[in-house]
Amino acid sequence: MRIFTPLVMFLLGTSLFAQNSSNQATWQQRVDYKINVTLNDSDHVLYGFETMTYYNNSPVALTEIFIHLWPNAYINAETPFARQHIENGKTDFYFAKPSERGRIDSLTFRVNGEIVKAELIAGSYEICRLSLNKPLGSHTKIDITTPFRVYIPKVFSRLGHEDQLYCITQWYPKPAVFDVNGWNTMPYLDQGEFYSEFGKFDVSITLPKEYVIAATGDLQQPEERAWWMKKINNPNEPNPASGAFKTVRFIQDSVHDFAWFASQKFRVAKSEVRLKSGRTVDTWLFAEAKENKKEEPVKGVNYINDAITFYSDKVGEYPYKHATVVVTPLEAGGGMEYPTITNVAIANRQVIVHEVGHNWFYGILGTNERNHPWMDESINNYYESRSTYQSKVATHPSLGMAFKSGSFSMDNIAGSSFGLLELQYLVSARNNTDQAPIIHSEEFTDLNYGTIVYSKASLAFLQLQRYLGDDVFDNMMRSYYAKWKFKHPLPNDFRQHAESFTGKNLSWFFDGLMGTEIKPDYAIQSVKRVGDSLQVTVKNKGGIPAPFAVQTLNNDSILTERWLDGFTGNKKVTLPAKLANAVAVDAREESIDAFRQNNRARTSGLLKTVRPLSFSMIGNTENPYKKQVYYAPIMGANMYNKFMLGLAFYNSILPRTKTEFTLAPMFAFGTKDLTGYFSVQRRIFTHGFIREVQVGVDMARFGTRLNTSNQILTYDSLNAPIYGDRILTSVYEKLVPRIRFIFQKSNPRTDADKDLTVRMMMINEQPATKVLFNNFKNHNSFVDVKYTHAQNRKLNPYSFSLNYQFGNAQSTFQKINAEFNAFVDFGEKKKGLNFRAFAGVFLQKPTEGRDARAYYRVAQNNGYFDYTYDESQFGRGENDFNTSTLFTQQMMPFGSCFRTYAPGLGETDSWLAAANLTSTIPGILPIKVFVDVAAINTKTINTDGNTGAVTMVYQANLHYVSGLSVWMFKDVLQVNFPIFADPNTQNLWKLNNSYGQRMTFTLKLNKLNPLKAIRELNML
Ligand SMILES: [Zn+2]
Repeated sequence: MRIFTPLVMFLLGTSLFAQNSSNQATWQQRVDYKINVTLNDSDHVLYGFETMTYYNNSPVALTEIFIHLWPNAYINAETPFARQHIENGKTDFYFAKPSERGRIDSLTFRVNGEIVKAELIAGSYEICRLSLNKPLGSHTKIDITTPFRVYIPKVFSRLGHEDQLYCITQWYPKPAVFDVNGWNTMPYLDQGEFYSEFGKFDVSITLPKEYVIAATGDLQQPEERAWWMKKINNPNEPNPASGAFKTVRFIQDSVHDFAWFASQKFRVAKSEVRLKSGRTVDTWLFAEAKENKKEEPVKGVNYINDAITFYSDKVGEYPYKHATVVVTPLEAGGGMEYPTITNVAIANRQVIVHEVGHNWFYGILGTNERNHPWMDESINNYYESRSTYQSKVATHPSLGMAFKSGSFSMDNIAGSSFGLLELQYLVSARNNTDQAPIIHSEEFTDLNYGTIVYSKASLAFLQLQRYLGDDVFDNMMRSYYAKWKFKHPLPNDFRQHAESFTGKNLSWFFDGLMGTEIKPDYAIQSVKRVGDSLQVTVKNKGGIPAPFAVQTLNNDSILTERWLDGFTGNKKVTLPAKLANAVAVDAREESIDAFRQNNRARTSGLLKTVRPLSFSMIGNTENPYKKQVYYAPIMGANMYNKFMLGLAFYNSILPRTKTEFTLAPMFAFGTKDLTGYFSVQRRIFTHGFIREVQVGVDMARFGTRLNTSNQILTYDSLNAPIYGDRILTSVYEKLVPRIRFIFQKSNPRTDADKDLTVRMMMINEQPATKVLFNNFKNHNSFVDVKYTHAQNRKLNPYSFSLNYQFGNAQSTFQKINAEFNAFVDFGEKKKGLNFRAFAGVFLQKPTEGRDARAYYRVAQNNGYFDYTYDESQFGRGENDFNTSTLFTQQMMPFGSCFRTYAPGLGETDSWLAAANLTSTIPGILPIKVFVDVAAINTKTINTDGNTGAVTMVYQANLHYVSGLSVWMFKDVLQVNFPIFADPNTQNLWKLNNSYGQRMTFTLKLNKLNPLKAIRELNML
């Protein structure tokens, strides 16, 4: 959110109206802070008094000043922070007790001693407007004072306490930045960081004496430092007796924020780094004592030293006297940066280097992180990854430039942080759900905030570094630092600096890699040997004209290398043929390329660009230079085939590929024949209102049991057939060509998943045969068209679907089904009401008898009626009331979803409507109460006793059942105990021999398909 003051707009004219003016002004405001604060550690409350000296260095007079009151982000579940938390799938804060929330109050703002009008802007608890009694002229200053009280929340994000460990961040009233874009006001958010004015902080913290306190800035009490030093040598150094308070003071100039952390249990580790200039920086690490992690603080402090040395060398010298890391619980990522101090949840090298590195990209180069997360997170993450990359080269000098062949083997991922970043980027890119790195922080999906801001953009900076050359890149960044340190560079400031320093047009970088979600993809089209050279045709299939390297290879060794400027279309490149047996685009994997599968070709042979096949057991990451087929043993079982054992073959799962297949043949020990399934699909990425089109075929073959009427049972003495009903152990085979359209989301954070699937289902059911697809021409055919709209948000999700089905050839009918599902919570985690509604009607009635399985039924939807064979089942043919088995009572998730088994309650080729309610019971989690109601236009066949004439009678009936339901294994298994029902249902119950025969269960085995779940990111 950004607010312009009318006066400023008037004085500065139209340049300020630009929504996103991207060159910073030459002036900059300054705020100096003096804060006295006292911690009450029994109520978790801060009592403070703050003086802000505000220097108006702008060319205009200010009539108002906007102040951030970020602790109010925790005041209730309606704040932008709370709403974003829920959107990101986190409900802890939403369901928190009032006592666990937080707020800031007791504010009385005075300017130079006089009370001023202070009011929250409309719709916000966190942005306060001070209306100055008289304008603050250009190049003048004022003192703004206020008392304040902060109720510290539990740790839900950054500010918080975990018992008596305090993380005091984003905690005091703080002016918004006023710059070329006007007032940059913003609510506190979890995803999306901050933007603050530089100045000097002088903070005095009063708290019980036994606390160890770590903070931004230089400690002013030598006795406090002496106590820390004692703790280093003797971790059991006793804390002073309680009861007394102390005041500890910290001072720091040239920073834009102040954070502090306090605990009675902090252990201390200290080291120091000598910089090239000769200056020394103290490095400190504070962590609560943990029984089994005695060495951790000592190791962690060395990582701080690594970071200070690396960034000082590559970017610019660390300007402060100390750098501190505190290990604390944190719910906003692995770590969070503050000037000279950072807190981390995990004290590993990666997190510590990253967070300490933020002293440069955020701390010293004070960018607007909220609007331009790439300017701090991406650049900083790039340097953090580069520091690991360097150390890999250092430890394996024989590898030269860390040549990563087939970088996605686990070994290489562990060794190269960029390899892991590429995998993360591809998770989003190969799902066609990636976003451009330069958009605002709040616009990213939870996943893309990681895979794009951190991963893709870091890779883009690596590509820029390699293209420019390490020295040019490093000098460019060093001069950027020198020019903009302690200032607020905007995106265009960085771009102009980079382009003028290097003398290059970097549009491919800023407008291409950073500015779009276009997936870069160069491919080798052909290789021809002409004398001593190779004629290589490279095609730009992605569209971004980014520079890249081409190499000649001898097996995995690079012989020659050339960087080419980017182009669109095709380009012929001449490379030396000497010793080369392959050519490659970007063999070092230092450019972004979403499809490396086409990046290599052999220099001889017939099919130079065809990748060799590679079979391997249970692989899960990609080697793009081979056509990978993974295999894994699989088992299965059902009542007819009995135990089944086989092998599943599939290509890569993560990242996804354009063509995906699974082939899973199994040998069935019961029927001694081949069963299994096969699925293949081609994924086509599109732009516009459809995001992806999938074209595929599914096949399956398994055993079942068919109740077949009017079959030849035997022959009489005259050899005439005797007809009758019989139950056959049978087989079904299914062949389903399909096309699926996945719709684009206009807001990828909040929009529902929408798709339209059209399937042509060819299903053949026949007596058991060992011949695959025997007599398949006798199949039933259905066309199934389904539109699904699923709002899969964490809070109150809902979905609906519309399904049109028609049978052709041997089965002719048409029906339409509509279904709605919703969950409404009761204000407590996992407690709430499931609601389902269903309505279905036949537009064209099915053939009598033959297609009766397509009828609507009230209380008999077991596996036998899954005539489309869409549900995974153990006993799909079990329907005989007299010989019923357990699986007779397994209900399918369609139609009425009545939770009792009562065959005879009615079926119809007319219409059915149903509603199903399931509610949690206070106190008992897995047990729920249910009520099912169904209205059905029941069809009855009447035969006249005298004439034998058959008439159909339709009558609308209402049925209901209610009882208890137990949901287990993440709701995969639901067991239902009916208690009450309408009189008709109760009469049918009486025919049962036991209570068990009226119970039902559902088993959602389709939920357990791990390949599908991983591919479609349902598990992430
Ligand atoms: Zn970061």
